[in-house]
Amino acid sequence: MDPFSPIKNAPLSPAVSLYLAPWVVPISSPVISDGAVALANGRILAVGSSATLRAQFSEARIERCQGVLLPGLVNAHIHLELSAYTHITDSAPDETFCDWIRSLLQVRQEGGIAPEEIISAAQQMLQQQHDTGVLLLLDIGNIPPSPLATNPSSVQVIFLLELLGPNAKAEEQLLARIASLPDSVAATPHALYSTTPGIISALKQRADRLQHLFSLHVAESADEIELLRNGQGCFRSFLEERGAWEDTFPPLGIDSHGAVEYLERLGLLTADLLCVHCVQVSEKEVQMLAARGCKVCLCPGSNRFLGVGIAPLEQMLHHQLLPALGTDSIASNETLDLWREMRILREDHPRVSPTKILAMATLGGAAALEREQDFGTLAPGRKASFLNVDSQLLQGVRNEEQLLDVLTGGGCPSTIRWVIEG
Ligand SMILES: [Zn+2]
Repeated sequence: MDPFSPIKNAPLSPAVSLYLAPWVVPISSPVISDGAVALANGRILAVGSSATLRAQFSEARIERCQGVLLPGLVNAHIHLELSAYTHITDSAPDETFCDWIRSLLQVRQEGGIAPEEIISAAQQMLQQQHDTGVLLLLDIGNIPPSPLATNPSSVQVIFLLELLGPNAKAEEQLLARIASLPDSVAATPHALYSTTPGIISALKQRADRLQHLFSLHVAESADEIELLRNGQGCFRSFLEERGAWEDTFPPLGIDSHGAVEYLERLGLLTADLLCVHCVQVSEKEVQMLAARGCKVCLCPGSNRFLGVGIAPLEQMLHHQLLPALGTDSIASNETLDLWREMRILREDHPRVSPTKILAMATLGGAAALEREQDFGTLAPGRKASFLNVDSQLLQGVRNEEQLLDVLTGGGCPSTIRWVIEG
């Protein structure tokens, strides 16, 4: 036997790449200064100090980065198909939530925007999400399939077809439509105030059968709670003026716990429920959501824009809920930028730590979309797909506290680069 021939069947060690940076923010473990992330076969192999990993992987290909390595951001609530509707965003201070919905429906029904324009605006918005560091997003839309059937960016898009109907006639039509939807289309209800209990239950049963995400707008405004509790308020007037009002929504009564109790009565408080907004919820409701393992997505920029209030984030964190973050659509927000959403959270909740806020924008989102095995943290086994960000502010930080302060309060970094392998 030739002593110099290669040993047959010897395991080939995978090619390892080592990314070094002044700061590594894994989310699932403490921040590392002068850190490194080792990658192989499209997955993260190890995360640690630069010195340790360079010794461990002495043959690795080395890439030196400026700034910070951190997980990609997750936008857990967006409506890409509304990206062309920027011109309804001039909300007057005295407008109610119902006024805003009225304006949006009017603009959409007038049909002044061509389908190609809607698709083009959605694609530009998706590219913008990518360019600002979003790795994964949940897109909610009324046009099946998603206007992004061809997704030109590397952002992973999960699409849910949103259905709504407020009375018996709409329910009859929608139940027939739901029964005929192909299994490849995941569908979900819009909100408790717009969709009959019968439609919501049918969609829930279908989501359980097909094992896909089930997400809806919950407790976004006080008007919604007024309808659910007492069957009154601007939503009732809105449906009456359209000739669509029936006693569809069984009033909970004055002593009830609002939207979450309504969800409970529909049998929806399960671990696969993703509640978007949760502004008008009591501590008791937060406790109910947490106890059932439900997921929550906050949209602070949209809530501020529409003037519907501030979600009780401190209570959610106290009850061990780590909410996700979403931008909602450009029809109800100034810009769709998760770095800005983090900054708004800092302003609205100065006692919440920047560490938690960054965890919301990464791990919280990945968990809400049931993708935390791949994304949301820098940890062994996660996908080799994450961010390298830098800015003048970041170059000036001297410790972990300053770093997290800039990442969550400094807005979108001037340099955002993707590290993608495999
Ligand atoms: Zn929304």
